[in-house]
Amino acid sequence: MNKPIKLIATNAKANPQDKIITNLKPQIIYIPLKNKKGQNYKPIIKENDYVYKGDVVAITTNDNFPIHTSVSGYVVSCTEKTISTGEKVKCLVIENDFKEKYRTTTGAKRYINNYSKEDFINLLKESGIIGLSGSAFPTYQKYQTSKPKLLIINAVECEPYLSCDKTLIYHQAEYLLEGIDAILDIMHIPSAIIAVKENDYTSIEELNKYIGTYPNISITLIPNKYPCGWERELIKLTVNQTYNHSPAEIGIITNNISTIYAIYEMLKYNRPLTERIITLIGDNFTKPINVKVKIGTNLGEILTKIKQYKPKENSIIIAGGPMMGKNIQASELIITQDINGIIITSNYPSQPMTPCIKCGKCSEVCPASLIPNEIIKNINNPAKLKKLKPERCIECGLCSYICPAKIKIRDFVIKAKKEASHD
Ligand code: SF4
Ligand code: SF4
Repeated sequence: MNKPIKLIATNAKANPQDKIITNLKPQIIYIPLKNKKGQNYKPIIKENDYVYKGDVVAITTNDNFPIHTSVSGYVVSCTEKTISTGEKVKCLVIENDFKEKYRTTTGAKRYINNYSKEDFINLLKESGIIGLSGSAFPTYQKYQTSKPKLLIINAVECEPYLSCDKTLIYHQAEYLLEGIDAILDIMHIPSAIIAVKENDYTSIEELNKYIGTYPNISITLIPNKYPCGWERELIKLTVNQTYNHSPAEIGIITNNISTIYAIYEMLKYNRPLTERIITLIGDNFTKPINVKVKIGTNLGEILTKIKQYKPKENSIIIAGGPMMGKNIQASELIITQDINGIIITSNYPSQPMTPCIKCGKCSEVCPASLIPNEIIKNINNPAKLKKLKPERCIECGLCSYICPAKIKIRDFVIKAKKEASHD
């Protein structure tokens, strides 16, 4: 899908070559005790405890997956804040002492390729590494695949206007390749392919500067169409293979390029996942920018320090990109690992929904081969809904984008998907 979306001005792309703005000194950070997938965390620290940067402060109740504090300081209280799903959840509140103190400092490793497979997988879990494209899928689970044959790096960043991945490639290509090389060695994977959009000349040029020294890593160019970053589509476009349930069936592991950088920092500096780059776009910014922030920062605090932010009346906040993002309606949004962009705009198309005209366009565009208008029609009919398989929805938003009746189809299908998962 190459058409620009009306939601944002067409000059909306941040330039990956711009310096990454850092916004790493929040007064307070908030650690949500529930993630976007609905998993709950139980705190392992309490009020008045002192925490070091990178300490585990909570773990998921079902599988002990950790979340770390991105600052050192005191735990002061608990409060409710909004997360990327729009839900208000309980958060641990940690006051930053601005000392950036780690409990143990190990220094940078010179050579990062000599971990055992077991140590690597354990470290991925202990470091709380999850997919940074928005999926929030725990990365260690992907590496539990037996005998992987190929690592595919998703560097296509297919959400229109987001550029945090491209920015990372421009500024850190050398280290990204070092990280990929280490993963191949550690996991005994024969080769890696970095999938890049065919028109992303900056990333192609940057990667090509360093890739020559890595014989097992190559670049594959992918057509610029949405949603080429969807795992199933990405694998099809990259190696022309399909699978039933998981890429592990065909010996493939996929990782987003920002996740690779988190893995590199974990291997090199023994750092858990506590920071990420997000793209800020929309007409409330004098220009679109990429900002490095600490996980747990309140969006409101970030905005007070961004000189490009010029708030306009009647604006809305979307967590994520224009296709998959969620209209949040709250400036008290907490930046979590799954947020790759924020749109703040007063230019939001708000045409009223009209009845479905049965044009079938939503089915035509659906990459998961669903019949979205039928899903909506049967939203209160569990038996029929089951047959329509809403759980296969990848939440790409193409159905809502194309619908002439302006029906927010994606939201309905996500609701149906959630209901189907409770069966
Ligand atoms: S695209 Fe909209 S109007 Fe057309 S069938 Fe789907 S829901 Fe109905
Ligand atoms: S959001 Fe879901 S239902 Fe809509 S087009 Fe994408 S996959 Fe299909």
